[in-house]
Amino acid sequence: VLDSAPLDVRADFPGVPEGWAYLDTAATAQKPQAVIDAITRAYGPEYATVHRGVYKRSADMTLAFEAARARVAGFIGAQPGEVVFVRGATEGINLVAQCWAGTQLKPGDRILLSGLEHHSNIVPWQMAAERAGAAIDVVPLTADQRIDLDAMAAMLTERHRMVALAHVSNVLGSVLDVRRAADLAHGAGAKILIDGCQAVPRMAVDVAALGADFYVFSGHKLYGPTGIGVLWGRAELLDAMPPYQGGGSMIDRVTFERTTYAPPPGRFEAGTPHIVGVVGLHAAIDYVAGVGLDRIHAHETALVRDARAALGSINSVRLFGPEDSAGIVSFAVEGVHPHDVATILDEGGVAIRAGHHCAQPLMDTLGVPATARASFGIYNGPADIAALVKGVERVTRIFG
Ligand code: PMP
Repeated sequence: VLDSAPLDVRADFPGVPEGWAYLDTAATAQKPQAVIDAITRAYGPEYATVHRGVYKRSADMTLAFEAARARVAGFIGAQPGEVVFVRGATEGINLVAQCWAGTQLKPGDRILLSGLEHHSNIVPWQMAAERAGAAIDVVPLTADQRIDLDAMAAMLTERHRMVALAHVSNVLGSVLDVRRAADLAHGAGAKILIDGCQAVPRMAVDVAALGADFYVFSGHKLYGPTGIGVLWGRAELLDAMPPYQGGGSMIDRVTFERTTYAPPPGRFEAGTPHIVGVVGLHAAIDYVAGVGLDRIHAHETALVRDARAALGSINSVRLFGPEDSAGIVSFAVEGVHPHDVATILDEGGVAIRAGHHCAQPLMDTLGVPATARASFGIYNGPADIAALVKGVERVTRIFG
């Protein structure tokens, strides 16, 4: 019996019909009916604005909104006041790169990234470095394509003020030892931001235990809505940060002479928030927690092991990433462009991603323009791996 036997949740996902192998969950996850229902109710009989209305409907929605914040906090081992709602991981990183780095980075300071980062954990830091006259260093990867923490230990200097790393690589599935990375960063006097986009849907995350300073993730990869994400930051760091955008909700008192700002998290949430997104995220967390992150992690680990074994037995297939990758398998078929692989797989009802996966520097390191990437979710099972392997065998026959 394969450990990758389905978790028996597929019927909860109207977006994943029988016979379709959806293997692009690293890009975005399909939604369980519970999330769709929560969104429908929130836009229907429960709908009203938050934080303003004195009428009951709005007061109830405000309670739901803040209950979602508390749920997020409980889910990642944080305090509700440390949870800032943002559009997604991208906005969370940009917020820190502007509001933290904008006041903390001085000319000559350095930022440490790794060679496997997503563009959203590269470009905001380049922009911040340019504004401050700071510089960026890049931690290389080990032979088995993890962030090389020994190299990082040797690279860190007292000029490094920020270390920003992915918890799980969206291309390779490599899992970072966040605790060790955080200890190294703190040992040099730097702060550490963790991009948890691919980790939060795949393993239990406790920001306090990990020792990070900032942690970001996107709701849509956690089986929740698009347009909503989370920035968690240590209370004392958020407290010291200036606002991100100006507008309603983020103020304490406004006059034309002088405006004072609300404390976090409100200080960073200008304007009417994505009310329904927040409610949907709450439902997604309830759903995922109900299935159990330990079960999800064990399940995806088994799927990866089986997929790597099956794909690896095809002669012309090259696998990327470590054996114990978390839910993600990037591969190449010798002599075939990944886009052609994905197109042929699509004809057989298998949806994978092909491209640079917003990680062009990593593609350069791997020496390829693109990879084919199969990424797993809660609803996948052995039938999806069988369909994937059958499709890749067809690719090798067509191009063979
Ligand atoms: N970091 C990683 C590792 C990702 O996989 C992604 C999404 N592909 C992002 C950041 C950006 O997330 P979003 O587009 O939801 O802001």
